[in-house]
Amino acid sequence: MDKILWERRERKSLNTNLIIFGPPGAGKGTYTSRLATRLKIASIATGDIFREEIKRSTVLGRKVAEFVNKGELVPDEITIEILKKRLNEPNSQSGFILDGYPRTIEQAKALDKIAKIDAVIQIIVPEWIIIERLSNRRICKNCGEIYNLRFIKPKIEGVCDKCGGQLYQREDDKPEVIKERLKVYEKQTQPLIDYYKQKIPIIEVETPQIETPPETIVEKMINELKKTNVIKTIEPK
Ligand code: ADP
Ligand code: ZN
Repeated sequence: MDKILWERRERKSLNTNLIIFGPPGAGKGTYTSRLATRLKIASIATGDIFREEIKRSTVLGRKVAEFVNKGELVPDEITIEILKKRLNEPNSQSGFILDGYPRTIEQAKALDKIAKIDAVIQIIVPEWIIIERLSNRRICKNCGEIYNLRFIKPKIEGVCDKCGGQLYQREDDKPEVIKERLKVYEKQTQPLIDYYKQKIPIIEVETPQIETPPETIVEKMINELKKTNVIKTIEPK
């Protein structure tokens, strides 16, 4: 992008730094990218960063692969270093929303030293919705496209619309495993919510219905951010 455009964009941005928490299957990725676009801030997902490094087989990628592939947390030392680097990049300077970070109190404390966080958004979703969503999720073996047997059905059963690849269900998207994942999520997240509760606004956004469109949820988030004075004005869509 040319420099003037970039600067103009920067001036327009709202400079808000946010963290988002939400259980697996809450639609967190979707909301995060839309919210980031609306607020003109960067969306940063540590999981994405790690997966990208693994794909490119970088030094870091090789270091973290064993943890990520087993679904275990990458050690704080490595994770914090990666986050610092990412927050130093130019496009983090006009605000960001963190998805997947912090996962430990250590990480939260390290973040406090690098940036001032304005608010935490917490997505609250009933368990049945999560189970319904995740257990109906199917993924293309070939291109990674995501389907949902109830909402985004492939035209031909078991076959990817985009590339003809075979669709499969992730091992951890089976109901027994989902319940376990939710427990792990609660256990990991509650201490972090407690940590932030004393310092900054926690904005709880409920998604009580399975068919609520993402736009509606994102508008709710924006309204709550305004109400708590985390953001002031925002240009209409
Ligand atoms: P998931 O929803 O499957 O947990 P993420 O994309 O958030 O997906 O994370 C994928 C993997 O990346 C995690 O299982 C973990 O190994 C690693 N990871 C991501 N963020 C962190 C973090 N903040 N601390 C430690 N490990 C992380
Ligand atoms: Zn495909």
